[in-house]
Amino acid sequence: ATPTAVMVATGKGASQGVLIKGGNALEKAHKVKTVVFDKTGTLTSGKPAVVGAVLFSKFSMEEFCDMVIAAEANSEHPIAKAVVGHAKKLCQTHRSQTEQFTEAKDFEVHPGAGVSGKVGEKLVLVGNKRLMWDCNIPVGPEVEKYISETEQLVRTCVLVAIDGRVAGAFAVTDPVKPEAARVISFLHSMGISSIMVTGDNWATATAIAKEIGIQKVFAETDPLGKARKIKDLQTKGTAVAMVGDGINDSPALVAADVGMAIGAGTNVAIEAADIVLMKSNLEDVITAIDLSRKTMSRIR
Ligand code: ADP
Ligand code: MG
Repeated sequence: ATPTAVMVATGKGASQGVLIKGGNALEKAHKVKTVVFDKTGTLTSGKPAVVGAVLFSKFSMEEFCDMVIAAEANSEHPIAKAVVGHAKKLCQTHRSQTEQFTEAKDFEVHPGAGVSGKVGEKLVLVGNKRLMWDCNIPVGPEVEKYISETEQLVRTCVLVAIDGRVAGAFAVTDPVKPEAARVISFLHSMGISSIMVTGDNWATATAIAKEIGIQKVFAETDPLGKARKIKDLQTKGTAVAMVGDGINDSPALVAADVGMAIGAGTNVAIEAADIVLMKSNLEDVITAIDLSRKTMSRIR
């Protein structure tokens, strides 16, 4: 495209809240034949809510919540915000509003799995089953039962391990964005196929994909696995767009022909992407591809 055409299209995009970083993305987007979507925070609202909590240990609910709050205090993940909010509410029935919560030491993010940190002498892990496996925490039958019951209800189970044992868990729901199904079916009508890649569990991922009409699902995928999926599709000769919001999506956003970040997402994802959807509305995936199609057809 001519520099002028790129400038016009970029300006038009910007006025609609679609930030296109340079001509390359604009020139590639019209070729996209597959759009790969992250789930949490991309297809779903990214405002998950805790709908259940259980203890598998002798800690009081207050002690348990204190440790969860400390471990998740510095996490940017939407699930972390929901869990912290819920844990604070559970604590507030026992203490005054002004009382301080502690923050964990040696805080670590395990992308696509959870977080860890030390609270006093105790090592606290908050995340999914893979985090437990990676850290050699046994997941017993009682915990397994809670996980499968939670996942059958299309909820994500967040496990909390304290000092080497699963001490409790939260059930988290995350509603899909109202425009998701409409956008997926419109993409299909444009001859573009849809795929979900998520770090979340298979049961929840499959149920959500079915609800909104996504054709293919890859669940329990770590950040590098997401990027590998993109490369697999590219070797088959298709131009691929990736839409994501998290730190865990950044390798895939970079690998894709066109990386699109959700504006409400993390800075890491926004930096890794070629296009930023400022309104965090999935309709703008179509806006971006459309803009590219129109710009490129005007040139030829
Ligand atoms: P998605 O790929 O759908 O955006 P992520 O890869 O960000 O999901 O996370 C995958 C899973 O890892 C989540 O569903 C959750 O179970 C777990 N997880 C990741 N980060 C956290 C966290 N900070 N606290 C609790 N669980 C987490
Ligand atoms: Mg996400």
